[in-house]
Amino acid sequence: MNLLPRMLILALLPCTALAVTPLSKEDWLKTRAERSDFVETDSAVASFALLEQLAARSPDLRLQTFGLTPEGREMKWLLAATGADEAEPGTLDDTTRLLLIAGIHAGEIEGKDAGIMLLRDLTENEGFRWPYPGVSLAFVPMFNLDGHERRSPFNRINQNGPANMGWRGTAQRYNLNRDFLKADTPEMRALLGLWNQFEPHLVYDSHTTDGADYQYDLTWHLEQFDLLDAGLRTWQRGFFFDTVFPAVTRRDHLLTSYPEPIDHSDLRKGVSYFVSTAKYSTGYAAARNRPVLLIETHMLKDYRTRVRATRDLLDESLKALQRDGLPLRDAVAAADRRAASLAGQDVVLLTRSNGKSENLTFKDSPIRPGKASSRVRPMPNMIRTHPRHSICRSSSIRNLR
Ligand SMILES: [Zn+2]
Repeated sequence: MNLLPRMLILALLPCTALAVTPLSKEDWLKTRAERSDFVETDSAVASFALLEQLAARSPDLRLQTFGLTPEGREMKWLLAATGADEAEPGTLDDTTRLLLIAGIHAGEIEGKDAGIMLLRDLTENEGFRWPYPGVSLAFVPMFNLDGHERRSPFNRINQNGPANMGWRGTAQRYNLNRDFLKADTPEMRALLGLWNQFEPHLVYDSHTTDGADYQYDLTWHLEQFDLLDAGLRTWQRGFFFDTVFPAVTRRDHLLTSYPEPIDHSDLRKGVSYFVSTAKYSTGYAAARNRPVLLIETHMLKDYRTRVRATRDLLDESLKALQRDGLPLRDAVAAADRRAASLAGQDVVLLTRSNGKSENLTFKDSPIRPGKASSRVRPMPNMIRTHPRHSICRSSSIRNLR
């Protein structure tokens, strides 16, 4: 399908295309999620049209194409940076660069709505100027674009909205969050091209959980073991644990690390920490010496809650990067220098548990397979975690076989 004519029609006739009643001037920059009381989300054409409207108002926002999907849709990303309209290669060198990937699983689309709303609010409050001169943001609102347009209320049957959610796989039935290392898909090759062009210091990958019931509205995963450079692990501990997560918690959110239950029918048996492989965004970014935050909002919370949690996390992250971006850039440069001198040294290839565990306070609700309710139980449970992973260096890998 040719995207351009549809976008032109949309630009000329927004009221008929987006809603039954004409949009007021104030509503013009609002997402369908906001206008539908967070029951629905915009189509890809409408989302790109909204970003185009925003970019037309601001010299610091620039919507660009970075690839073509198997079904012929233009993949777009938005650059938010001071002077983005005239940015050339190298002009972002003195900024801290954040890559935000939303909709890699298209039915998990909070990142798109949260990103659009936050960019609109941040720039609108400053006369449509980008308020963070030390930070550049590359925003991919719908990475799995063909999947985003395969919309249905039944694509993620237990998820609490939006009503018109996208599909997990691509048009070729690939799961993009298993394709980072192989890059079999045209979508991934396009993203890695953008990655190499933008050269992010930090990567966010926005998702919704696939199951389990608990009280947290947002869970996260960071690579906390030797897959990620030690200097970057030190930076991310300070940035997330001391700054961003407490700030988001103060905005009435409940956060914890992404739980991977040892027994999916009994959360009391504990949750495991894990180390990602490079087919995932998390493992791939770490292998390239970039910290990555996996965002997993809770599928049983309503869409408004999940979008707000993602939006507030992004908001606090940008503020913190404006203040504390320089140490990240230094840590990334140091990690790259260390990686360049790895030849002849042992490197981590496999990980295994070291048998240790620790207590974790986890505010769960009973797991009820097949039930889509989210009953909140105020009493926290103490559970034991799965043993932490230890590392195994290449010299001892033979011993594992
Ligand atoms: Zn996902």
